[in-house]
Amino acid sequence: MSEGLNINPSISPSLAEAEPDFLIIGQGICGTFLSHYLIKAGKSVVVIDDNKPFSASKVASGVINPVTGRRIVRTWMIEDLLPFALQEYTALGKQLGVSLVKECSVLDFHPSLQMKDAFEKRLEEEKEYLHKANELHWQQTFNFHFGVGEINRCLLIDIDALLTKWREQLQFQNALIEETFSSEELSIGDGRILYKKLSPGKIIFCDGVSGIDNPLFKNLPYSPNKGEAIIARIPDLPTQYIYKQGLTIVPWRNDLFWIGSTYDWNFTDTLPTGAFRDKVKNFLTYFLKISFEIVDHIASVRPANMERRPFVGLHPQQRNVGILNGMGTKGCSLAPFFAKQFADFLTSKKPIAPDADVKRFEKILARKMN
Ligand SMILES: Cc1cc2nc3c(=O)[nH]c(=O)nc-3n(C[C@H](O)[C@H](O)[C@H](O)COP(=O)(O)OP(=O)(O)OC[C@H]3O[C@@H](n4cnc5c(N)ncnc54)[C@H](O)[C@@H]3O)c2cc1C
Repeated sequence: MSEGLNINPSISPSLAEAEPDFLIIGQGICGTFLSHYLIKAGKSVVVIDDNKPFSASKVASGVINPVTGRRIVRTWMIEDLLPFALQEYTALGKQLGVSLVKECSVLDFHPSLQMKDAFEKRLEEEKEYLHKANELHWQQTFNFHFGVGEINRCLLIDIDALLTKWREQLQFQNALIEETFSSEELSIGDGRILYKKLSPGKIIFCDGVSGIDNPLFKNLPYSPNKGEAIIARIPDLPTQYIYKQGLTIVPWRNDLFWIGSTYDWNFTDTLPTGAFRDKVKNFLTYFLKISFEIVDHIASVRPANMERRPFVGLHPQQRNVGILNGMGTKGCSLAPFFAKQFADFLTSKKPIAPDADVKRFEKILARKMN
């Protein structure tokens, strides 16, 4: 017996009413893509999700930006992740009858002379993603003093449509249970698992930041960070670009824009703060030459980790329990890619990339089980 978890080799699945191949906990971006790929591979899947209104996936802006940070360098594995994301969001969107991805540019309004110099220096080396932008074109819309560069191509994902439409699909297949999963009611046997009336072959945790309290995985090096965003109406701002000057303005749902964000590792609650609202109001008042109206303010916690690499795979000791988590700031690009790797591993034993495979934490996870 591990804290809050019943490990019992002699579980009898005869108590169960259903025996799906997989029970998935959580329907954020991770649970959505993992259930999609497993169902596509012919497996039976049940997803439990409590439909929390401010999960990381629901608060995220949905941007996949190939170059980030002050040094404007390529993000990890972007050459593989970006084309894969474009292909998979397009395909899943077709299946669900909705457009989930659009290609766009980030206009990078340099906030200082140093940042302008850094961008221009990188422009000489990074010819694929960095470009000069037409400054004159933007002078009627924005106040800026240090020029503007363009990052292209970027992707913008409609996460709201993804989660809503996939949830409907799961409901239609009778594969979604809307409730809070409790590890107190989970029994893990050598062969099967028992959770209430379900006896799945395997249980996979895609529970985002709640995973930090998971008795089997809580020793993983999580480093959660809180992010806030303002939602505003900016009627005269074109919706085919993402605009960045320290904060980022991203086209969002229903003609609204998302403005964020913060990266706060020392938070005491997960609520929006007055300080951030004031900061964004000041930013928009200064940066925009056009009118805006703030309509909402949201916040969530990113399931980030110290290594900035995801947690993917089966528990090294408990081989019928798995995890897809730790996506940090990059769930939109990492989740589809590693959900596919994990599904291929689960159905055809194809290997998971060693940098992402949770078995790299074998010693830490073994210690925890004793
Ligand atoms: C402000 C902000 C902006 C961001 N912007 C971007 C961006 O532009 N691009 C990008 O790539 N990433 C972005 N991210 C990061 C991205 O949101 C995350 O990497 C990603 O959403 C994580 O997805 P997930 O499925 O692992 O977790 P989650 O989205 O947290 O999903 C977990 C799901 O499990 C459910 N759940 C948890 N515990 C239980 C339980 N016990 N019982 C039942 N259900 C449960 C939750 O309700 C939720 O639905 C942003 C994050 C934040 C906070």
